[in-house]
Amino acid sequence: MNKLGVHALVWVGGWSHDECTKAIEQTAALGYDLIEIAALEPKSFDAAFTRKVLERNKLGITMSLGLDDACDISSTDPERVKRGEQKLRDALALGRDVGVTHMCGILYSGFQKYSVPPTEKGMAHSVEVLQRLCAEAAKSNITIGLEVVNRYESNVLNTAAQAVEFCQRIGASNCKVHLDTYHMNIEEADIEAAIRQTGDYLGYFHIGESNRGYLGAGSIDFDKIFRGLAQIGYTGPITFESFSSAVVNQQLSGILAIWRNLWDDGFDLARHAKAFIEANLRSAHEAHARSQKGFG
Ligand code: MN
Repeated sequence: MNKLGVHALVWVGGWSHDECTKAIEQTAALGYDLIEIAALEPKSFDAAFTRKVLERNKLGITMSLGLDDACDISSTDPERVKRGEQKLRDALALGRDVGVTHMCGILYSGFQKYSVPPTEKGMAHSVEVLQRLCAEAAKSNITIGLEVVNRYESNVLNTAAQAVEFCQRIGASNCKVHLDTYHMNIEEADIEAAIRQTGDYLGYFHIGESNRGYLGAGSIDFDKIFRGLAQIGYTGPITFESFSSAVVNQQLSGILAIWRNLWDDGFDLARHAKAFIEANLRSAHEAHARSQKGFG
């Protein structure tokens, strides 16, 4: 069974001691295996405290982030690339200190809407920086997940096929594709085929609805998603992502365009998500096992 996680923004918008304790305790209380934190501001993050609370609650941790325009490693401007590499290294150092297993997100470009396509020179910069980041991450057994996002959040990786090819260019065994159902629903022609074609390159998975609210209350065909995951025998983490104007992180909520209130009660939302994911995973694996045995 996959490790199941929940994004910290279901609970809290920041990471003060109180917020950290609340997010970790609630996640553990629901029986999740891990929490995913947004490492946007490593400097205001108490790693030692976080690690202590995680250990007390026997919870795992992963982290995600996106680069901003000034730190865009897919830029042709060497200064931005340099700043971006430093930002990624700082985030990785923080991840190492809190004990993350995965560092994911839009690590390969800016987390923003572009008005021009990427350039070959910029893509080459991104590949070089990520090769060095993967080598550094490998020393701490950290997997790097490149999140495929919709066209309004990056111009570099919008489909699973592009991400597989990008990972092949980077050529590091700890460099994996990070898929997210919310983005796939916008960009992939066939979400089940996209998961199948990613295959062993899949290293991290976000489950989110089309409106980023309660699972099942939007338009995503989750049968296809879970069938795809069962078919490739995916064993990595599955993290639930949901955002509402009820919990705000000024920086992240703005870029993600979280304007509407989709829910007020994060606990009920996360409890429902866990049951939803577990039930659907179980059915998909059961159906897959039977089809393999020829019971159809
Ligand atoms: Mn995501």
